[in-house]
Amino acid sequence: MRTIGHFIDGVETTGNSAEYQDVFNPATGEVQARVALATQADLDATVASALAAQPAWAATNPQRRARVFFNFVALLNRDIDALAELLSAEHGKTFDDAKGDIMRGLEVAEFVTGGPHLLKGEFTEGAGPGIDMYSMRQPVGVGAGITPFNFPAMIPLWMLAPAIMAGNAFILKPSERDPSVPVKLAELMLEAGLPKGVLNVVQGGKPTVDGILAHEGIDAVSFVGSTPIARYVYATAAAHGKRVQAFGGAKNHMIIMPDADMEKAADALMGAGYGAAGERCMAVSVAVPVGDATADKIIAALRPRIEKLKVGPATDRATEMGPLITAAAKERVLGLIDKGVEQGAILAVDGRGLSLQGYENGYFVGATLFDHVTADMDIYKEEIFGPVLSVVRAKTYDEALKLTMDNPYGNGTAIFTRDGDAARDFATRVNVGMVGINVPVPVPVAYHSFGGWKASSFGDLNQYGTDSIRFWTRVKTVTARWPLGIKDGAEFQFPVMK
Ligand code: NAD
Repeated sequence: MRTIGHFIDGVETTGNSAEYQDVFNPATGEVQARVALATQADLDATVASALAAQPAWAATNPQRRARVFFNFVALLNRDIDALAELLSAEHGKTFDDAKGDIMRGLEVAEFVTGGPHLLKGEFTEGAGPGIDMYSMRQPVGVGAGITPFNFPAMIPLWMLAPAIMAGNAFILKPSERDPSVPVKLAELMLEAGLPKGVLNVVQGGKPTVDGILAHEGIDAVSFVGSTPIARYVYATAAAHGKRVQAFGGAKNHMIIMPDADMEKAADALMGAGYGAAGERCMAVSVAVPVGDATADKIIAALRPRIEKLKVGPATDRATEMGPLITAAAKERVLGLIDKGVEQGAILAVDGRGLSLQGYENGYFVGATLFDHVTADMDIYKEEIFGPVLSVVRAKTYDEALKLTMDNPYGNGTAIFTRDGDAARDFATRVNVGMVGINVPVPVPVAYHSFGGWKASSFGDLNQYGTDSIRFWTRVKTVTARWPLGIKDGAEFQFPVMK
């Protein structure tokens, strides 16, 4: 059986690992590989490699660092089909969706090729008599990234590209459920000309994460995953004196105004609710039609679309929705659907009991639609992370806005309308980090930045865009005066500008 190792100091290795975890094919339920789980000695070796490589990399001029990313982008484009195959074999998402996962990461690598400009400091000539002042952005040192299973290419690239461009060494701890692509990314970075040790990958679960959070050789931690772990990572890394940003889960609402184009809104809900089997932090899991007539129309438009949705393995290129990631995820989602029924929601389309010939042991759940969901139900309160769309009927726009704002999560949200006033009011007032106007999955492009509010994000500064350059650098400000500007005699007053 294939063994997936760590990537330490330029080589794939199982290190000292004595423990391994199975990696499944979610479409068949078969074990297809096993991944080595790091020991403390493996983590120490990884950090030692990063610490040894970082100073020379930081001293490499930014133009040359950027060239590595130009090469890397070309290599990713060269290998994208093979990487997408590997990604969907471990994750289960369709081939096209896997390519999208890689492309959105590649775009961040493209963005950081502009690093020499982004990393420029600031200069003030004559800040005082004979005084010039300048600020420079220097790398934080060794950064670590802990990433979720649902975007095994994009999210590692959100972190590693700006961190490395800024002159840091970077240690990636990917999800143990789909760990192959992250190792391939590290191999490609090496092929692109990155010196060994600047990017290492260490595989593992909670013990490895805990080792990272406490390791004195690591200066900054970026985390993306579920909210309880994000909260824990944020508090623990901060308690160890590290710079930390931690992004959590979501419950994204899409408001449908009575004037919206219902056919387009239904198409949007299909992709946003059931794409990647709902395993996206920007998936729409709550549809909020305004008025009963709007709700009836949207349900009527969704029903035939759901019936036509092609569920299957990623190896079938006609598949539109694949399986969930694990058997446990499937059980959890089915359990939540049962709870929705028990608690009185109306099951408009039931995705339970789906069985695909030849894939009976796969982790498939059919697309599910609930109507008349209320805010006290578990299917509303929990992040389901599966192909389950809940319709919460609102009487007015204000009620729909309040529902969205009262939700503890604040990752993404959308409004579908032809009314510019309503759209503008929504974008201005809603307490959510990413807003779509007639765009159901408003994931910002690489030169803006990604981040939610409330329980979807802990700490400051978003992923990618200029925020990421700020997160992965420290500012040093120099105040310089040369002998010509220095007055004779000691000054005892605190320096002020007169
Ligand atoms: P997860 O929280 O289970 O795991 C994320 C990472 O944390 C993994 O690397 C995992 O090994 C590690 N981990 C798991 N349990 C841990 C523990 N007890 N202690 C320390 N580390 C632990 O998340 P997941 O299931 O891989 O991913 C899905 C979640 O990620 C969803 O909640 C989704 O909304 C969220 N997500 C958020 C964003 C965002 O940008 N806000 C993006 C993608 C996914």
